[in-house]
Amino acid sequence: MKDYDVVVVGAGPIGSAAAFALAKQGKRCLLLEAAPDAVRRYAGEWMHPTVVALMGGLGLQLPKAGQENDAGAGFIVHPEDGSAPIPLPYPDSQRGFCCSHYDLSVSLREQAVALPNVEYIPFARAIDAQRDGRVRFHVQDSREDREVSAELIIGAEGRSSVCRRALASDTNRDVVSYMAALSLDGRVALPTEGYGHIFMGGPGLVLAYRVSRDEVRLCLDVPEAESALRRDKELLYRAFEGALPASLREPARAALSSDSTRWTATFFQPRTVRGEGRIALVGDSVGLCHPLCSAGVAVGLLDVTLLAQAVEAGDLASYRENGARETWVPELMSTSVYQLLGRPDVGDALRQTLYEAWRKDPSERDRTLNILMGAERRPAQFVGSFARIGLGAVSRSLRPRRAGGASSRDGSVRQQVGSFARWLRWPVASVLPKWAVDRIRPASTIHAPF
Ligand SMILES: Cc1cc2nc3c(=O)[nH]c(=O)nc-3n(C[C@H](O)[C@H](O)[C@H](O)COP(=O)(O)OP(=O)(O)OC[C@H]3O[C@@H](n4cnc5c(N)ncnc54)[C@H](O)[C@@H]3O)c2cc1C
Repeated sequence: MKDYDVVVVGAGPIGSAAAFALAKQGKRCLLLEAAPDAVRRYAGEWMHPTVVALMGGLGLQLPKAGQENDAGAGFIVHPEDGSAPIPLPYPDSQRGFCCSHYDLSVSLREQAVALPNVEYIPFARAIDAQRDGRVRFHVQDSREDREVSAELIIGAEGRSSVCRRALASDTNRDVVSYMAALSLDGRVALPTEGYGHIFMGGPGLVLAYRVSRDEVRLCLDVPEAESALRRDKELLYRAFEGALPASLREPARAALSSDSTRWTATFFQPRTVRGEGRIALVGDSVGLCHPLCSAGVAVGLLDVTLLAQAVEAGDLASYRENGARETWVPELMSTSVYQLLGRPDVGDALRQTLYEAWRKDPSERDRTLNILMGAERRPAQFVGSFARIGLGAVSRSLRPRRAGGASSRDGSVRQQVGSFARWLRWPVASVLPKWAVDRIRPASTIHAPF
């Protein structure tokens, strides 16, 4: 006889959603949280319409702060060459929402803890988890560690997961960049309200969106190699100034000098370890993607949905199988889009072709958005869309230029074809057979899927 049906380790947004979903099935759940205030950190704030749908499917209410904030219509990309901004509204006028990570996390936690069969222990840090269902944890200020047993342990402790460590030694994790999150006064106007803005042209991309009536978030993504920018605020400002619209420059400079900047490392870790024995992982403990695509919470809630279905069917193995398959395309999408938009050094022709496809073809725009937000997870859609972009980039680089002469064109063609060949690995990866994906995925990186 186990002490609980389920022990959930970590009451971040995804652990709380998992406790809620399984308690709704009548399971007796224990929810452990090491640092309840950790949710004050800067993390997921922009939520895709898929998050709204997945929360609805699990029976969760949207946070009040998200309902009050009129953001969530889609994205607007501002190209580096100063050409017209490219609106990427969510298909069919769907809406996501946006609120602080704190408001999101606390709302989900409160909904879980309100259920009678969820026992919540704050300041309880899991120290060890075993495949047979035992969890050892320490409650702050207590003298002794405690141990409980459960039919199922759900590891939802995020990037430093004790449960994941019990299953695999985490060797494949890359730091991708460091993000500086600035808080701007809510009176600052965004170029178009309601949208998340992506400004190109800096050493990394810039994101801007409204978090609430009182706050606009500005994120500067500093590539890992640009360490000098992390040490010197003036240098940082000057490096990104040209990418910012005039209305955001002074507020950005003022925020940087106010010492309120929060730095967060971003990682890539393939989502390959999902559980074994009585342990199942969800959310960031499965793996990590760069936040550019705002996919973290949507993918985590998809984990929870698939896990809840597997538990209900009494078939935990299907969670490992389906979860791995269902999150492969979102993972490829966020790494490949990060390569295109987040890295100025990656093929210019590829990026220009992507802009052109978005400008000309509403169905291409919808397809990108659907893959980006995790609504479209079929490899065929990803491969079609992105192979077209690669081919378009090659034909673009073959077009004669007005200036430059034959030799520089040949050099550029070679370079662009090289970029295309590298780029092609993403669409190819999405259609590989399962046995090949199982092989390459654990070793994939932010730079290439194989
Ligand atoms: C800079 C940045 C920006 C992002 N922006 C977006 C975005 O706009 N949209 C989006 O969807 N996603 C975004 N993400 C990703 C998103 O924040 C994560 O995917 C999401 O927070 C994952 O939730 P989680 O519950 O799995 O993990 P976490 O949020 O990390 O929560 C884990 C919880 O477990 C607790 N814990 C840790 N160890 C233990 C232990 N041993 N015992 C008990 N408790 C423990 C922690 O205190 C924490 O409360 C962003 C991430 C970053 C870094």
